[in-house]
Amino acid sequence: MLTIVRFEKSVVDSILSHALDTYPREAILLLRGKKERDEILIDEIVVPPLATHGVGFSTFPSYMLPTDLRVMGVSHSHPSGNPEPSVQDLNHIYGRIMVIAAYPFQSYDDIAVFDKDGSRLHWQLISDRQPQLD
Ligand SMILES: [Zn+2]
Repeated sequence: MLTIVRFEKSVVDSILSHALDTYPREAILLLRGKKERDEILIDEIVVPPLATHGVGFSTFPSYMLPTDLRVMGVSHSHPSGNPEPSVQDLNHIYGRIMVIAAYPFQSYDDIAVFDKDGSRLHWQLISDRQPQLD
């Protein structure tokens, strides 16, 4: 059972700024990090190869991705401002978590995190380059 998701501050800041830069189209980013027991730490974002940014959708051909065990999930933006996943989102969850950045992308309250079943997860911000706790 996945319980805690942590993001380095720079990752969340980049998700918000990328969403703003891409607005009014959807932004999509891969989230890289690691999983240890019930925790996932996201410490890097990657622009997916061949990403398509559309109005109301964004996607990328997942078969193009190299096998990358550090990819924990995908972040995309909702220019509509609705932080809830759409039916299409729920049917296309890639990886362990899904992050939605909702317009206006101004604060950490605009970030929502879901597990692969679409249940909302608690998440925390950590400072960059924090030493490993264990
Ligand atoms: Zn969506």
